[in-house]
Amino acid sequence: MILENIKEVQENINAACAKVGRDPSEVTLIAVSKTKPYTMIEEALKSGTLDYGENKVQEITEKYEILPKNIRWHMIGHLQRNKVKYLVGKTAFIHSVDSVRLAEQIEKEYAKADEIANILIEVNMAEEESKFGITSTETEEMVREISQFPHIRIQGLMTIAPYTENPETNRGYFRNMKQLSVDISKKNIDNVNMSVLSMGMTGDYQVAIEEGATMVRVGTGIFGERNYNK
Ligand SMILES: *Cc1c(COP(=O)(O)O)cnc(C)c1O
Repeated sequence: MILENIKEVQENINAACAKVGRDPSEVTLIAVSKTKPYTMIEEALKSGTLDYGENKVQEITEKYEILPKNIRWHMIGHLQRNKVKYLVGKTAFIHSVDSVRLAEQIEKEYAKADEIANILIEVNMAEEESKFGITSTETEEMVREISQFPHIRIQGLMTIAPYTENPETNRGYFRNMKQLSVDISKKNIDNVNMSVLSMGMTGDYQVAIEEGATMVRVGTGIFGERNYNK
């Protein structure tokens, strides 16, 4: 089931790329395995998918211990400063940096380990009250401040679009994200790369790809519905 789902998602990614003349190799599928047991990731690994997304530090560290070390773990959930230290050496990307204070903590912990943290700045493009992330108008300023930290490399932007039954309603947010990333890229800020655009989930990843996503985060479409009561 998981392997069939991944195949279907990959085909949808290819189709979305074809529609707008993009090369599918520009788009990384992140299989969002949060709340799911490691045995499901073992199954998913048979597809060759090596990028997995989690929203809790504890789930990353537990699964990291058990599963093959060539997996690239993506921290996609809200990150508390006191948990940053557990991610060092275990995380390919932190998608959810939304404050200079958090970046300061990342700098401190990664400097101790003499490692570089690859991060994305989380933008709340739709300005939903319930979501973390900064506004688009705050983004350039925050990128400039965080770019000063020597053990952090900003690789791009991330957004969580509103939940929707109709992905077309999110197209404008994705388009604005792409524009924001292009605008910041043009400023040529030292130590800042805008090559990653992490956007699109099960309900809207095709539209996100049409608008320029380079990482899509798909959970339900691969592993099925999540049960938070267990
Ligand atoms: C849970 C989650 C996803 C995956 O959501 P699905 O709708 O299940 O694909 C993607 N991004 C973030 C930040 C998430 O927390």
